[in-house]
Amino acid sequence: MNVRVDIPSIKPLISDKLAKWLATPRPMLIDGKWTPAQSGKTFAVHDPATGEKISDGAEGDAADLALAVRAARRAFESGPWPSMTPSERGRIIHRLGDLVLEHADELATLEAIDNGKPKHVARAADVTLSADMFHYMSGWATKIEGKTISISGLAAPGIDFFSATRPEPIGVVGQIIPWNFPLLMAAWKLGPALATGCTIVLKVAEETPLSALRLGELVLEAGIPPGVVNIVPGFGETAGAALAAHPDVDKVAFTGSTEVGRLIVKASAGNLKKVSLELGGKSPNIVLADADLGLAIQGATAAVFFNHGQCCNAGSRLFVHRSIFNRVVEGVAAEAAKIKLGHGLDPTTEMGPLVSQVQYNRVTGLLASGHEQGAKAICGGSGAGGNGYFVPPTIFTNTNPSMRVVSEEIFGPVLVAAPFDEVDDALIAEANNSIYGLAAGVWSTNTAKAQAIAHRLRAGTVWVNCYHIFDAALPFGGYKQSGWGREMGQAVLSNYLETKAITTRLG
Ligand code: ADP
Repeated sequence: MNVRVDIPSIKPLISDKLAKWLATPRPMLIDGKWTPAQSGKTFAVHDPATGEKISDGAEGDAADLALAVRAARRAFESGPWPSMTPSERGRIIHRLGDLVLEHADELATLEAIDNGKPKHVARAADVTLSADMFHYMSGWATKIEGKTISISGLAAPGIDFFSATRPEPIGVVGQIIPWNFPLLMAAWKLGPALATGCTIVLKVAEETPLSALRLGELVLEAGIPPGVVNIVPGFGETAGAALAAHPDVDKVAFTGSTEVGRLIVKASAGNLKKVSLELGGKSPNIVLADADLGLAIQGATAAVFFNHGQCCNAGSRLFVHRSIFNRVVEGVAAEAAKIKLGHGLDPTTEMGPLVSQVQYNRVTGLLASGHEQGAKAICGGSGAGGNGYFVPPTIFTNTNPSMRVVSEEIFGPVLVAAPFDEVDDALIAEANNSIYGLAAGVWSTNTAKAQAIAHRLRAGTVWVNCYHIFDAALPFGGYKQSGWGREMGQAVLSNYLETKAITTRLG
């Protein structure tokens, strides 16, 4: 199949105000001020649907990172943020959530032109969940509690002690985020770090700096003091690596590929900074013979094709009971055929382009490997051609575990589907047969059976009769090489807190 998608320039579709904002090279946020890179360098930001340059971003490097870390350190040691009452901090974080909602349309537009995703999807998912993350985390600012612990004091007989733990902010936090949900990943990272009283240097992805930089303006408008949130766009090998290695950063939180996660761990070794990682996935999605087929077909389609497959938790390996295999695969292919590719600003678009030429080449290279290794494409199977980076939804059958399309994370709209005969150890072993363990799905009308399967899947998230249900209150993260630690929920707070035990002699 070869669908050609040619998109005209989007310039006439954006407001004059936004066009003006984009026309100025976007500076970085350091110590509450918008500043160009010290080197004076900028990098071009492209619309992935047209390949057209839409703006420039200041290109941060090690020197800018050093300034940002210094500002964050000062804000942490002597600024008003850590000493502010939790209630006041919570109110400011809540205001930031409100501001995100007030600017929802503009932020969704930025996601559409920078990342390529449909604006209506960005508005409904990315922007809504980002605001909710700030609102949810604002509540935690006043609920960070230690506990009292009775101790025996064995080495000091006859003396009484009072012991208690006090959670404290970990300090200066480096955060490195990817391009698949640019605003939401910024919110996932900033929300808990702010709630715990940390100060932050955020390195945004070079592919998609715009929405996080606009968020930086809202951070200041919300009243977050200078130096608490510093935002530096720049490349991974320079800015990202410098942040991960910086000796005055107490903790680095990274979301991205497993390969780069490994580099972050190595870079963090110098000062043994704490590390949390949210990495790749190759998530199994299992449809039992008794599943509600309509629900399962729609769910399996969304599981893999949402966000153009550019989700670390995409349900990219579909296992279907042999008795319904053809019906489900044909059903997913029929749903895929209805997905309209186009520009994110076109309200009828359901799937935009991949984010960059690099990703386009990676994904189409993996598609070629699928063909070469003998997989059969039921739909899609190649890039779309045209001026943007469009790849139509692809479903491969006739696969086996040794194929690259089965074992590697593709990060594109590509599903591999295989039949199974029994819900047995072999099925569970096959579902768990991955270096990753981020997410999984199970579809069955027998929820007890589905629950039992969920217990056996080695994944940080399991969805039963649903998929992609995210909530600020739910922890998200990976088993195995999908990461260290959890994002969101109460669980994420421990990423940003140290525990101090204080013991006082009584008498
Ligand atoms: P993807 O494969 O999704 O592009 P990456 O893991 O390459 O994800 O990138 C995620 C983030 O990590 C981006 O902000 C990128 O700039 C950054 N990054 C890439 N390489 C490095 C590195 N060596 N050190 C630190 N950060 C990096």
